[in-house]
Amino acid sequence: MLLKNKLKEMKTFLNSNNVLANLEERYCYAEDASNLISEKKTPDLVIFVESIEEVQKVIKYAYIHEIPIIPRGAGTNMVGACVCNSGGIVLNFSKMNKILEINPTNMTAKVQPGVILGDLKKEVEKFNLFYPPDPSNFKVSTIGGSIAQSSGGALSFKYGTTKDYVLSLKVVTSDGSLITLGSQVSKNSSGYHLAQLIVGSEGTLGIVVEATLKLIPKPQTKRLVLGYFNNEVDLVKAVDNIISEQVFPASIDFMAKKAIQTIEDFSNCGFNLDYNYLLLVELDGFETSIVEQTELVEHALSNANSKLIQTPKLNETDAIWEARRTSFAASTRLAPDVVSDDIIVPRANLAEVIKLCNEISEKHNINMCLIGHIGDGNLHPQFVLDLDNETNFRNLIACKEELYSIVKNFNGLISAEHGIGLEKKKYLTSILDNKSIEYMKLIKKAFDPKNILNPGKIFDI
Ligand SMILES: Cc1cc2nc3c(=O)[nH]c(=O)nc-3n(C[C@H](O)[C@H](O)[C@H](O)COP(=O)(O)OP(=O)(O)OC[C@H]3O[C@@H](n4cnc5c(N)ncnc54)[C@H](O)[C@@H]3O)c2cc1C
Repeated sequence: MLLKNKLKEMKTFLNSNNVLANLEERYCYAEDASNLISEKKTPDLVIFVESIEEVQKVIKYAYIHEIPIIPRGAGTNMVGACVCNSGGIVLNFSKMNKILEINPTNMTAKVQPGVILGDLKKEVEKFNLFYPPDPSNFKVSTIGGSIAQSSGGALSFKYGTTKDYVLSLKVVTSDGSLITLGSQVSKNSSGYHLAQLIVGSEGTLGIVVEATLKLIPKPQTKRLVLGYFNNEVDLVKAVDNIISEQVFPASIDFMAKKAIQTIEDFSNCGFNLDYNYLLLVELDGFETSIVEQTELVEHALSNANSKLIQTPKLNETDAIWEARRTSFAASTRLAPDVVSDDIIVPRANLAEVIKLCNEISEKHNINMCLIGHIGDGNLHPQFVLDLDNETNFRNLIACKEELYSIVKNFNGLISAEHGIGLEKKKYLTSILDNKSIEYMKLIKKAFDPKNILNPGKIFDI
């Protein structure tokens, strides 16, 4: 074990109750929610940090001894961003989980990185405020993890992703210094946006130890409209029609037939199983405007040849979204493994890309539950298979690679919200231009000259 001789020294500045050094304790920290990474190593040490000072002490020590540091929130990322491919220390933030301040006048929340998104959402609602970023697993994922992945979700269509809510970050740099990036105010044209550089950097540039987040007024009410379609052209036309009607829904999401069936089997929330696609359109705003918005959306769906339009009662809406958010869990009932992908293309090409997704998964003989944030052009093909079966595994890789080449042809990206991590780094060069990757590497070197912060993620140095 790399750190055995160093552990004694580190214990002089760490609370030993916060250090996991035994193999059986460290073992589970080799994993996150990715399942295509072959090089998962058990970390040498897991440290539950409790304060900024403690983080600084650990990082200073790691900097001197060139020990890899892998920050970890809930470990739910799907791309191997928390995997310890080169051993080292896992910094676990679950004990830095305090909401430090909610300021209704400034419309900001100051939080520690281990705060669970769902907890923050509930707390700010007490002030009639709203923190929109909503990865499906917001009941477990952390602020630190969601900042590092720039997580999005169903509400991204109207409200954007995590990057749109980060005002200021306290960050421990690779040599253990503490810096404050961004500012507490709502607008900032004062130099480079360094806080934004940390957003989506997957723990490779600095360790987030505190965040000031922007809040917005909580919409007074919401209404869900469901529309069923038989083909992808009508499905996408419905989205275009909604926008032509000048309606701005909070979410425009969809599920394809196999996903509808799988989610319905799991959650029994009454989805109709007769059609190929289900569009979920959530409207929000004032009670007085919601009726008019609903009528316009119904009109838009009907003009796109929707086969069935439903407007569930307000008290049924939460159960429907809850069901939609269980799609990953529901899919695990179909096969031993689920590999969820995350691609995005311009909306003008969506109908064609959805059709190609179906054709490619069929061609490679892989079952797929297709869902996504269709308003954003963001698709999540969830491949259900047995990864221990060599043919299944080979087919999956061929299927993914074909998908990525289509994404490239349509000027899309191989990740919209799940990140690159270890899993997708070999595809990054085919999707981004070389110069921009070169600049990313220069930025990495400026922040982390010894390459100790989450090394090997996004790209190799
Ligand atoms: C069932 C399921 C559904 C999901 N749905 C969505 C979805 O709808 N939308 C979406 O965008 N994502 C989704 N995800 C992916 C993932 O959960 C999110 O990206 C999530 O926000 C990550 O949070 P986490 O706390 O688990 O982070 P982790 O997985 O623990 O970490 C993610 C990254 O952040 C880094 N990190 C963690 N804490 C810090 C810190 N304090 N400082 C610096 N770096 C840090 C880690 O090193 C890693 O690179 C889903 C995942 C699952 C399993």
